[in-house]
Amino acid sequence: MRTTHWIGGKPWNGVAERAGDIYDPATGQIAGHVDFATAAVVDQAVAAAGEAFTRWRTASLTQRSNVMFAFRELLNARRLELAKIITAEHGKVLSDAAGEIQRGLENVEFACGIPQTLKGGFSENASTQVDVYSIRQPLGVVGVITPFNFPAMVPLWFAPNAIACGNSVVLKPSEKDPSAANFLAELFAEAGLPDGVFNVVHGDKEAVDRILEHPAVKAISFVGSTPIARYVYETGTRNGKRVQALGGAKNHMVVLPDADLDLAADAAVSAGFGSAGERCMAISVVVAVDPVGDALVGKISERIAALQVGDGRRPGCEMGPLVTGAHRDRVVSYLDAGRAAGAELVVDGRSHPIDGERAGFWLGPTLFDHVDTDMSLYTDEIFGPVLSVLRVPSYDDAVEVVNTNRYGNGTAIFTNDGGAARRYQNEIEIGMIGVNVPIPVPVSYYSFGGWKDSLFGDTHAYGPDGVNFFVRSKVVTSRWLDPSHGGVNLGFPQNS
Ligand code: NAD
Repeated sequence: MRTTHWIGGKPWNGVAERAGDIYDPATGQIAGHVDFATAAVVDQAVAAAGEAFTRWRTASLTQRSNVMFAFRELLNARRLELAKIITAEHGKVLSDAAGEIQRGLENVEFACGIPQTLKGGFSENASTQVDVYSIRQPLGVVGVITPFNFPAMVPLWFAPNAIACGNSVVLKPSEKDPSAANFLAELFAEAGLPDGVFNVVHGDKEAVDRILEHPAVKAISFVGSTPIARYVYETGTRNGKRVQALGGAKNHMVVLPDADLDLAADAAVSAGFGSAGERCMAISVVVAVDPVGDALVGKISERIAALQVGDGRRPGCEMGPLVTGAHRDRVVSYLDAGRAAGAELVVDGRSHPIDGERAGFWLGPTLFDHVDTDMSLYTDEIFGPVLSVLRVPSYDDAVEVVNTNRYGNGTAIFTNDGGAARRYQNEIEIGMIGVNVPIPVPVSYYSFGGWKDSLFGDTHAYGPDGVNFFVRSKVVTSRWLDPSHGGVNLGFPQNS
């Protein structure tokens, strides 16, 4: 199978100079290839997007939202097909793939309401016979660069709002699981989106660098690891573009002594090992406030033993493989490093039973206790099924640990004390906070984004911030001395 670019409403028909392998992570076998775009191919996509923008920017709000409604219906009807594509290339279990599509759909639904969202302000008679009003206009061609871990949801955080605001899009998805992006492109075309408004280029740094440099690209939404997010932000802004670049994470779950420990243990296991820990909102550190450490570690270990790890297409599997062999090996290296640094390896994922082919990229759920903040287990984003427990004497120490960490994506506090939870949400330097909720990904009508090294730029993704990112505002001050008459028309006014 070969996955190629989607430019101007159809698959690219050129011959690629370079291509990459696509793996089936559950078998370890090469399942296909993906064409890598040169700068010249990116230029073709940007040209197609620029051409389409000249017309799409004036498409009525009714037309734009009609396309989004049609796209929403198609995506909803064909979500199982897309989930299978995601599982085959990413490895996450089918139900989890369906879950990411559901969260993506919610962003499409938000974009369906663009006529309401884009309403501006109006001040009648700001001065005598002078009215003042604001309008919000699209930017032009926008680049969207996305990571491997949510091959459908993260593109859907951006593309629907960007398009509904009147922009055209060049998406560069992860080369590890590229096919979901093409599926979305086909659905957009079927939904009636004009050719060239949504384009996909595949590839690596070469394609990204051209997007960052191209003078016709006005804005870039990026999601990925912190070093690349910083690079994209610095390069894109240096080239005069508007950039939002979401980076990596190390998310802490603080468990206070009054918490319901069964609820907390369920949450830690779900949020730590769902999608094999390859989520930017995964919990990777449990901060156990004395004296809950022993009881909590016991309850988490019991739950880990019952987890079904295996091929995400097999019924009953709850956690799949890691995305590539290289990534699995990197994650495994932290197990030895953690032990050598003095952490206690309570559950070693290398010996967990696997329901799948031996050559798959497996690592079972792993639990470390007595982790310290100077260990690489703690300082690095591991992005795998490795959960660390850090013990602290007090609430204040827990806050100190979380606030000192360089990342600021998500955090959760587990407690039955409303006052403590309220204090935590006030004091903590993190963008998204859960109170007895381990993965507090905001609903589509709020916005998603972290603080510190988890986000470069001023605006968060999707929701109201996402819409602001994709428009520029103008304010008009106008005076009309003579009213004009449109003539007689007895028909009922209609939108088109
Ligand atoms: P990554 O940074 O390796 O890749 C992200 C994108 O950047 C891909 O499209 C990739 O092709 C491109 N890229 C990679 N190296 C590049 C380079 N040197 N120059 C230019 N472009 C380059 O990230 P990943 O491994 O695909 O995804 C996992 C990371 O994404 C984790 O760090 C995770 O925390 C993060 N993430 C963050 C969020 C968030 O909302 N903050 C959400 C999902 C994932």
